Amino acid sequence: MTDNYYVCPGCALLCDDIEVETEDNKITKMYTACMKGVARMKGCSSPLECTVEQEAADVDASIEKAAAILKDAKNPLIFGHGNSSSEAQKVAIEIAKRTGAYIDDTSSFCQGPIIEAILQEKLKTCTLDDVRDKADVTVFWGADPANSHPRHLSRYSYFPRGKERQRGWEEDRTLITVDIRKSDTSEIAGNSGFFQIPIKGDAEFMNALVDGLSSKVPKTSFNFDKKKILELSNTLKKAKFGVIGVGLGLLYSLEELEPLFALMDKLNSVSNFHIIPMVGQYNMRGFNHNLFEETGYINRVKFDIESGQAKHGAEYSVVEALKERSVDAALVIGSDPLSSLPLPVARYLADIPLIDIDPCQNLTATKANVTIPCALGGVESGGTAVRMDGVEIELKQIVETDKLSDKEVLTRIMEAL
Ligand code: SF4
Repeated sequence: MTDNYYVCPGCALLCDDIEVETEDNKITKMYTACMKGVARMKGCSSPLECTVEQEAADVDASIEKAAAILKDAKNPLIFGHGNSSSEAQKVAIEIAKRTGAYIDDTSSFCQGPIIEAILQEKLKTCTLDDVRDKADVTVFWGADPANSHPRHLSRYSYFPRGKERQRGWEEDRTLITVDIRKSDTSEIAGNSGFFQIPIKGDAEFMNALVDGLSSKVPKTSFNFDKKKILELSNTLKKAKFGVIGVGLGLLYSLEELEPLFALMDKLNSVSNFHIIPMVGQYNMRGFNHNLFEETGYINRVKFDIESGQAKHGAEYSVVEALKERSVDAALVIGSDPLSSLPLPVARYLADIPLIDIDPCQNLTATKANVTIPCALGGVESGGTAVRMDGVEIELKQIVETDKLSDKEVLTRIMEAL
């Protein structure tokens, strides 16, 4: 892409073909971004203000207070990161190391297991550019990209012409959706491409597909047309370059990843299939990569303050650590856990000393002891991020701001520790 194009931080597709017009240091027009991207890039309707104990403060006082809270805590938590640049994430990891903190992100209860398996090379993956150029069969499983990643189908997975897919969706691509209900993406796939399964039926459907791919009669307890499963198995078997986009619907249904591993093993013994996690926040995958590089784990880490060693396990997840009340202060960056965590856990989080760093006002900020606004990544500040397929993308600053970037806020907190 040339210098005239910018990257949209609206989701982890990180579309890098966005053109903008600016006037008086404001974006006035945007081209090619979807509505979700436009809403994100326009900025906050209600920007976050700098406060200490809910009173207006300057940034120096807020940073000093944030550092004091972290210093006083025995077991702080550093949470969020999905809407932060990779540079900020690396500083957050360093702060966690120095303060003996828990560090975790939303992947802990969504795409984490898939990203971990990909980084450990247990699942075959590919880039979105491969999907555009080569994919002839794309399956969205428990995912509805027409709403979650609105330009996925038009840029990569269904509508575009690709190097080896010159005849496009009309003749060269097959779109399949597997879901518990008909989604907007299923409408595009049509009746022949939509496979409706019961709630929690994903593992059983995967096992039935493995049967079909092994030329056996599929076994299912639910009332599903076995002929249709055999037809789908045949389509998957014939794929030259297949992709499965794994959504939250699938991850919340599977108790363990074994059925997915078994399906991928079988698919790759008869065909050629790849997995891409349908990551939501623009740099959640970046956090997983950065923490993995530092510790060998993608999330659910607690650092030992003396040795700097990372401990990892379910007990160090944000939800468990808060449930056990072993966290005694928290720094939240680029996230709104009071809106998304289970209520009893969120209540405890609201009761402990809380720091919130974000471009926009949110529910977490209303309960925080310290709030520090930061520049909106990809619009008011640059940096790097990791796209849903693991490709690093450079975000460019579009407009000037007097706010510090997320990396600068965290660096100043670290210096004040
Ligand atoms: S699909 Fe995602 S990255 Fe692309 S323009 Fe829309 S919100 Fe932005």
